[in-house]
Amino acid sequence: MPSCRTCHGHNLQCFLSLGRQPLANSFLSKEALAKPEPFYPLDVYFCSDCGLVQLVDVVSPEVLFRDYVYASSSSNTRRQHHARLAQEVFERFLAGKDSLVVDIGSNDGCLLQGFRPLGVRTLGVEPATNIARLAEAAGIETVNDFFSPALAQRLKEAKGGAHAITLTNVFAHIDDLDSLLTGVRTLLAERGVLVIEAPYLDDLLEGMLWDTIYHEHLSYFSVGPLIPLFRRFGMELFDVERTPIDGGAIRIFAGRAGESPPPTQRVGEMLALEKAKGLSSLATFQRFAARVQRSKEELRSLLGRLKAEGRRLAGYGAPAKGNTMLNYCQIGPETLDYIVDGAPLKQGLFTPGTHIPVVPPARMREERPDYMLLLAWNFKDEIMGRERWFQESGGKFIMPVPQVEVVA
Ligand code: ZN
Repeated sequence: MPSCRTCHGHNLQCFLSLGRQPLANSFLSKEALAKPEPFYPLDVYFCSDCGLVQLVDVVSPEVLFRDYVYASSSSNTRRQHHARLAQEVFERFLAGKDSLVVDIGSNDGCLLQGFRPLGVRTLGVEPATNIARLAEAAGIETVNDFFSPALAQRLKEAKGGAHAITLTNVFAHIDDLDSLLTGVRTLLAERGVLVIEAPYLDDLLEGMLWDTIYHEHLSYFSVGPLIPLFRRFGMELFDVERTPIDGGAIRIFAGRAGESPPPTQRVGEMLALEKAKGLSSLATFQRFAARVQRSKEELRSLLGRLKAEGRRLAGYGAPAKGNTMLNYCQIGPETLDYIVDGAPLKQGLFTPGTHIPVVPPARMREERPDYMLLLAWNFKDEIMGRERWFQESGGKFIMPVPQVEVVA
């Protein structure tokens, strides 16, 4: 019987099924198209005991994260966001000290690059071998491994305690949170701070960001379930902030109990907001699931109508979340001729499950489709700015969230 990832209770209710889906980042080579693809259930559960929204079907991290196709630095928006985060953490917690920052799931070193000009020692921990190499090549020392209590112990002996441990877009990927927090507690220096940035459940609901649900994202966090989780490990959540990246995220600040500053007013305010929004009530999520179903019908009906009118359609951006949307809505190459994406790691490959070719953005300039489905909606401003010519020459974007909408 599955148990809750944060409280270990057994009162889990499935409120949304996105069907059986391939792994959202498992883009396929041309040769692989002929082979069978593994599909896994993508069902979302609510814990009636602590309120954590989560997946219970866990795909092995060795399969998901040893070879990875997403490099954080490939987006300007994310690079700038990380630089600001580094600056904030430095000013609040590290200024004037000889500090060590350890970034868990450090990807290509995007966040740690932001700490370098501040004179802070940095260390990345990144399991994806191909991505860890990119970080090393950019001069960011990186341990190519999964974070664990044993690794935390070794790092502490070799480098001393960490004054800040950061996880951005990683916390939701981790199945064994007990092991993570045991390691974090070990590695932190005295009065060290844990900084987590993760997509926020309230933003997921408000923004209808249902496509951000995929197998890598095991948990959909609100503040409520985290407080008792940290307590179990002798830690205390003392501050929380909201930030607009990726459609809406929270930054959580925690430290060892007795060493961290008193909780800010914001923590209480967020808990009150979550109560008012019904984030601890199953009915809230059942209503969300019904809206997701309607979104699917609207998107399919719009694309079907445009196709029947003879319009040429393509996709913009091949993010992992796009594959949740394409697979759930059953949109394939019969509808989208191709998807353009600027990331060289994805070009020449095909989307998992739906087999749409991913091509360089130049293709869009050559073929000038009538409509582009904006799968990478989180970089909407960046993309529409870069491709202004498209709309100026009569092209239209289709925004899939929060509601299906044509943007001329
Ligand atoms: Zn729970």
